[in-house]
Amino acid sequence: MLASAFVRLPHPNPTADDVRAAAIADPQFGRVFTDHMVSIRYKEGIGWHDAKVMPRGPLSLDPATAVLHYAQEIFEGLKAYRLDDGSMALFRIEANAARFNASARRMAMAELPEELFIAAVKEAVAADADWFPPVAGGALYLRPFMYASEVFLGVKPASEYHFLVIVSPVGNYFKSGAPAVSLWVSEDYTRAAPGGTGAAKCGGNYAASLIAQSEAIAKGHDQVVFLDAAEHRWIEELGGMNMFFVMDDGSIVTPPLTGTILPGITRDTIITLARDAGLAVREERYAIDQWQANAQSGKLTESFACGTAAVVTPVGKVTRGDASFTIGAGGPGQVTTMLKDRLVGIQRGLVPDPHGWVTRL
Ligand SMILES: *Cc1c(COP(=O)(O)O)cnc(C)c1O
Repeated sequence: MLASAFVRLPHPNPTADDVRAAAIADPQFGRVFTDHMVSIRYKEGIGWHDAKVMPRGPLSLDPATAVLHYAQEIFEGLKAYRLDDGSMALFRIEANAARFNASARRMAMAELPEELFIAAVKEAVAADADWFPPVAGGALYLRPFMYASEVFLGVKPASEYHFLVIVSPVGNYFKSGAPAVSLWVSEDYTRAAPGGTGAAKCGGNYAASLIAQSEAIAKGHDQVVFLDAAEHRWIEELGGMNMFFVMDDGSIVTPPLTGTILPGITRDTIITLARDAGLAVREERYAIDQWQANAQSGKLTESFACGTAAVVTPVGKVTRGDASFTIGAGGPGQVTTMLKDRLVGIQRGLVPDPHGWVTRL
């Protein structure tokens, strides 16, 4: 199917201007949605078909729809940014398209041609560009996702899939105020095991992580940090963000992509930007005991988490059982701030884009 083959069905009764303006004045994260969505269907033997931009609305699912039973579901998350000149741009969308298919392969789902993924996201942004939120750090958050839509209870990869893109105007992920987040180290739960689905962006990984995230919140922290499933020793990532550790000699450590952590596009971008800045980056395992000892001795000066939604988020404090330790001075460090500024600068078109990451719309 051609990427140009979208049928456009404009909303017959779009949100009134004043209602939309009120909704996007302080959108927060993931609560406000636009008027349209993109929908494409897949069926074995037919392939991808029925691509349309249509009014956003509820999906009607047969109770035996496969995703409701066996959880074949994957997603992506990316943002459309506003550039200085008022136009909009996407950041590394080719990487999202490729990762979507890597997730599809792991979950035994149909792959979506990358140019169709990219065209679908562009259609979604074009349909609802007037929903761009006029707030600092604001963006249109795009959520492409796909679920098994075959109506069948037999245990096998589905033969039908439904791909959609929905759009959410967003502000900052974390409610402003705190300069850094506090983390809770989960010692009871793990997020992913070797051979499992940790490297796929699937809803199931989140389902498995929510109990630990709730525990972190209940104990007064912002986010949970997961350790590896085999030794309960090596730092993996947060529920939805990758981790970086900055040492006093300016070098940076981040956990390697061993199949149990999500290959974040922000992670890859930060590694590149740090190396561009002349910093040594090592992708190597880092143990929770090392983190605590190095933070306490001063060998480790900064730590941060990163992802599309929350961008670069400094870690201020870490709690493990009854013990807590503070990272640096407990706020954003110099290297963290420098890398965040460079990343945001490229995303917003304020500084040159030497790697060709930005797609102007
Ligand atoms: C999406 C995601 C990330 C961050 O990936 P980005 O491409 O940087 O947004 C990190 N960890 C998990 C578990 C994720 O689902």
